[in-house]
Amino acid sequence: MSLNASEKTGRSFFVADLHLTDERPVATGRFFRFLQEDVAGADALYILGDLFEAWVGDDHDEQVARDTARQLKSLVDAGTPVFFMHGNRDFMLAARYAARSGMTLLEDPARIDLYGTPTLLTHGDTLCTDDIAYQTFRRRVRHPLTLSLLRRLPFSLRRRLARQARAGSESAKAGKAAEIMDVNADAVVRMLRGHQVCRLIHGHTHRPARHVHVVDGHDCERWVLPDWYAGWGYVVCDAAGCALRVEDL
Ligand code: MN
Repeated sequence: MSLNASEKTGRSFFVADLHLTDERPVATGRFFRFLQEDVAGADALYILGDLFEAWVGDDHDEQVARDTARQLKSLVDAGTPVFFMHGNRDFMLAARYAARSGMTLLEDPARIDLYGTPTLLTHGDTLCTDDIAYQTFRRRVRHPLTLSLLRRLPFSLRRRLARQARAGSESAKAGKAAEIMDVNADAVVRMLRGHQVCRLIHGHTHRPARHVHVVDGHDCERWVLPDWYAGWGYVVCDAAGCALRVEDL
């Protein structure tokens, strides 16, 4: 008996914080190999934000944007759906680029049924509630009115604003305690309880791990995805559970 080429592997992959840019071709190459060697044939790929280092609109002009769209599209065309949730770097990614790459856009948070286990997906930045300055900035910049204004600005101006925002965020981060930039444990429990789930997968903090949070007497799990700077990795789940893999680049 031969295996049907379209047969699924019964696994779903989760990644975040790849921060792809033309300036870091090694990470890009690793991501494309990951798609071809690991994800091909899987049930689904979920990209939970910050796929790109920066995204000022679907007219984003980096080569990596075109190449990534082509790679994702061929994965989707071969039968593995790709879901994308916005991160704080690429929240301007919109329907045009999603269509070009074959990705389905997800709201943040998104609750899915993962092989019978209700699972909540989020980028993770909304859980960092101790960083009050960031949460205020996020509310302003992600407001629908701000977004629609931003989309009307010329490309060069959007790019300049994005660079300023990144520089501001880097210098603000330098003055913040590490705990402030991690998730708040109470916010995690509130989110799990509010969505009636006992499993959470997110990125953003770049602190790959599996954590246990006790919610109303139950041990619930929180999987944190790695970034793709010095290393790379993912969370993979099947009917038996999830596992975190982190490798060197
Ligand atoms: Mn992020």
